[in-house]
Amino acid sequence: MRIGTIEAGGTKFVCGVGDESGNIHHHVSFPTRTPIETMQDVLKFFDNKNLDALGVGCFGPIEVNPAHPDFGLLTTTPKLSWRNFNILKSLQAHFECPIYLDTDVNAAALSEALWGAAKGLDSCVYITVGTGIGGGMLVEGKLVHGLLHPEIGHMFVRRHADDPFEGTCPHHKDCLEGLAAGPAIASRWGKEGKDLQNEELVWRIEAYYLAQAVSNLILSLSPKKVILGGGVMSQARLFTYIRENVTDLLHGYIDKPETAQGIDHYIVSPGLGNLAGLKGGLALAAVAASAIR
Ligand code: ZN
Repeated sequence: MRIGTIEAGGTKFVCGVGDESGNIHHHVSFPTRTPIETMQDVLKFFDNKNLDALGVGCFGPIEVNPAHPDFGLLTTTPKLSWRNFNILKSLQAHFECPIYLDTDVNAAALSEALWGAAKGLDSCVYITVGTGIGGGMLVEGKLVHGLLHPEIGHMFVRRHADDPFEGTCPHHKDCLEGLAAGPAIASRWGKEGKDLQNEELVWRIEAYYLAQAVSNLILSLSPKKVILGGGVMSQARLFTYIRENVTDLLHGYIDKPETAQGIDHYIVSPGLGNLAGLKGGLALAAVAASAIR
């Protein structure tokens, strides 16, 4: 199969062409502009590519229920020009092949389960920590949706005793994203994370919040693998600190080897590196195609 994939992010769009085995043949990346301008860039890339299917992992919040009349509609996104834009309908007007859409993070979770760090497992959580915080999840072999879709970046966390920072979330101030996404780090400390490498407290506080999110997800969804990606996670010591904090928080209650001696292989970075999102589109199309067959 010749599958097109779009990783539609609030900062950049990545478009590629690949196959149902997770191979990307080539891809391009461009900044996210207005919907009309960005869609022009997308169509230009896919012109004459003769796709059998297109998979799209999109930022949100977005309506992802195929039975809903507004399937594909972006809703309360902070990207104002994208509010009330239906990305799926816009694509359907130009592509004849089937199009499969889910959140960017659900798509990434699926690609990690097919080809990456959660390969062979029917369950995982994929969390990205960057400009925002988002999470996708696969439970009993299915991506999780519901009333909308999970928005774990906005879960509420206990405050670190040494952190008076008010938080950056326009909706909740000190939710997880408001306290721990890249812009929160920059705003709290007056510098970007990459310029705070030697500041121990920065990463202790960061790990304290992320570990609460991870622990809450372990307690609620019981994932078989927890995958943490995104720009902020390139600070590698965070993995060590998060594992330590998760161990403290769970306090032996989840009596499984994965959360004890195996924790280094349980809370991990994406097996597909920074291609987890782009391969997510391939994964959505590949799974849909195999279900049809
Ligand atoms: Zn929030």
